[in-house]
Amino acid sequence: MAYDVVVLPGDGIGIEVTDSGVAVLRAVAAAVGLEVDLEFLDAGAGAYQRTGVAIAEPVMAAVGRADAVLFGAMGLPDVRREDGTEITPQLDIRERYDLVAGVRPSTLLPGIDPVLYARDIDFVVVRESTEGLFAGRRDPRSADPDVEHDRMTITRATSETLFDIAFSLAAARREAGHAGRVTLFDKANVLKSQAFLRTVFDEVAARHPDVETERVYVDAGVMMMVREPERFDVVVMENMFGDIVSDLAAGITGGLGLAPSGDIGRDHAVFQPCHGSAPDIAGLDVANPVGMILSVAMMLDWLGDRHDDGRCLKAAARVRAAVGAALSAGVRTRDIGGTASTSEVTAAVVAAL
Ligand code: ATP
Ligand code: MG
Repeated sequence: MAYDVVVLPGDGIGIEVTDSGVAVLRAVAAAVGLEVDLEFLDAGAGAYQRTGVAIAEPVMAAVGRADAVLFGAMGLPDVRREDGTEITPQLDIRERYDLVAGVRPSTLLPGIDPVLYARDIDFVVVRESTEGLFAGRRDPRSADPDVEHDRMTITRATSETLFDIAFSLAAARREAGHAGRVTLFDKANVLKSQAFLRTVFDEVAARHPDVETERVYVDAGVMMMVREPERFDVVVMENMFGDIVSDLAAGITGGLGLAPSGDIGRDHAVFQPCHGSAPDIAGLDVANPVGMILSVAMMLDWLGDRHDDGRCLKAAARVRAAVGAALSAGVRTRDIGGTASTSEVTAAVVAAL
């Protein structure tokens, strides 16, 4: 079968790194005999400036029909709606298609200078992305001018979806030779919502007796993540904790330019680098495309698992190996200490395929 992939390059360096990701996707698809139909669509701050709409309904509908979505970056600091808010179609897509799990692998890649003593860093942060403390942003202002609240909302339905995704990921990682363990970061000792989250975790864990689990308070967890990151495999948590912990995880493995991510729900998934549109370096051919290229690998893995298609899994493995080869050969952009341009890194990865 041919896979339909909707491509949303978006704004700033999103456009440049999407070019890189697409070049690598086309090359690897040809190499393993995979048919991928790409549909390029316009959304983001640029689209808002041109048309007055950040993501048009036909684009949103195409996202829903696609087998998978590849996303660059969206939003520019100077382009705002009349109410002063930024253009963030990625949040609209997450809400519309219930992409509850923000999956961010944190891997110390070959050729990257470690910032910690640990050399064997390879774990995945799974961040709940639709509720938790961020749900509080939709609440009305408080009546008392001297007090403001944000509520933490944890629902059984969303938590079950989140944990099912984390447990499937752990099972897939165990097949690939990792520990296959799921760690919950929470604050169940202080907050009722967090104690409830732990209860739902325990229920889902009971349905997966083959997967090892542990429960760690988030404050102790971040210390362990810096002191002994090797002990983690899949680490799952509430939205705000995940926001903070996933940046820590990117920091200990070389920074934003290398970090891929997937926004995953039961039926849909969007893959994108962790970084934003970085207007300070846009158009200069200096952005690091590795985060995007590794997001392409994540997309291929997800398609391969979902459609039981070994060609996709093979393609994903080849992309990761090619990135490792290019970085080890010293082809690196300046954010990670090199001098290569975006196009040079892309060409080196394509050549290594
Ligand atoms: P957002 O709000 O969309 O997350 P942000 O303001 O947090 O965006 P980013 O756009 O992610 O910021 O980037 C922050 C800075 O990190 C950029 O200004 C840029 O200098 C650097 N940076 C981000 N991504 C890359 C990349 N792929 N290659 C090189 N440098 C990058
Ligand atoms: Mg940011």
